[in-house]
Amino acid sequence: MSEKTLYLKSGKCTWGKCIFCGWGCQDEPVQTLEELKTWLDQKLEPVDLLKIFNSGSFLDDKQVDPKFREYVIKKCEEFGIPKLTVESRPEFITAKSLKGMKSDKVHVTIAIGLECADDKILKKLNKGFTVDDYLKAAKLLKKNGFGLRSYVLVNAPFTNQDTLRKSVELAREHSESVILLNWFPHGYSAAFNMWIEGKWKPFDKEQFEEATKEFGDIEKDFDNFVFRPRWPKEMEKWINGATEKELLHPYYELWQDFIVRFFKAKRKNVLFVPCAFRKPYNISKLHRSIRKTLFEVPNSRDIHLVVISSPGVIPYEFVDYYPFNRYDWKEWEETPEIKKKYIEVNQKRIENYLNTHKYEKYYCYFKLDSESYIALKQACKKLKIELIDCLSEETYEKIKNEKNPLTFPSALEDLKKNLKT
Ligand code: SF4
Repeated sequence: MSEKTLYLKSGKCTWGKCIFCGWGCQDEPVQTLEELKTWLDQKLEPVDLLKIFNSGSFLDDKQVDPKFREYVIKKCEEFGIPKLTVESRPEFITAKSLKGMKSDKVHVTIAIGLECADDKILKKLNKGFTVDDYLKAAKLLKKNGFGLRSYVLVNAPFTNQDTLRKSVELAREHSESVILLNWFPHGYSAAFNMWIEGKWKPFDKEQFEEATKEFGDIEKDFDNFVFRPRWPKEMEKWINGATEKELLHPYYELWQDFIVRFFKAKRKNVLFVPCAFRKPYNISKLHRSIRKTLFEVPNSRDIHLVVISSPGVIPYEFVDYYPFNRYDWKEWEETPEIKKKYIEVNQKRIENYLNTHKYEKYYCYFKLDSESYIALKQACKKLKIELIDCLSEETYEKIKNEKNPLTFPSALEDLKKNLKT
């Protein structure tokens, strides 16, 4: 069956208050009827199923002009598209809004984010409707010949496996189809703070599969949007200092959790490198020198660059994301105690990373007396991983008192030679 999904820009969700959702903050312009029609005409093609998603409700007149809804139906009929799915909150599903979307040729399904069939939890999630509202909408849809698709969230805060069972049972009874979605908070949502504060964590793939396996044939979606931690602009403050408070900053801890459980490394070998004072690291002299050297090595595309620094393990894919591009660990403020703590904390973070990310070869390029190097060395020793030093003791002895020794040609020559082997 062929299908096409269109993402319609139609302003903010009128409700915009669900604690896990950032769509309420989206500043999308509301388009005129003519603009909407042109947009649809450019995108439409004959398919078996057309899905139109907007951030909010397709049946909300404030977001989508009712005349455009009629136009969509007319176009589906013209193109011979037999099935259409759109999304809406229950309060916008009325006899009037459905009237404009009735068709003998197109089966229209309205998807509702029920999330959870429990009024107390819906209230805590700030959904702004009750199970009864959902049921009334379900009844109206059925009476008017529309289909209902229900979204149920897995691992939403305040829920457990019993709540999930209860929600699936109710949704199944009233819907044509049900889909179980893994619960990831959008970066700009209130619930994101729950993760920062350590009150809740998203399920990784294994946990999601375990929780949903009892529902056998029901459709499941582990990762329904490209997810990574995102902070609202106003929370993106510089993290400065070299104390335990900065080392164990909750933002770093959240990223480490994400990097260990959700990030998948795609390259064969890894090269661990230190951070640079200049941010993002990739514009620093050290990182430019390392990357230039990598270009001179055959198969450099197989090498995954991973930085070790006070925030922990930072795959290169994330170096320009907050807070990795907005922190200063001031080495000159380090005490013997914090250096010890740095090694202990980062050794653990590296072990966690290496337990879930496997490579064929493990290279490193550090000053041989740095805390990051010691932490990495100890982690690899504990996990019985062979770590290949790309800087020889002999070379380091000669340059260690120089400024920025890792950018010295003799050191970079060592790096190249070791990577080539
Ligand atoms: S989950 Fe849906 S209803 Fe809730 S704020 Fe987001 S778009 Fe609006």
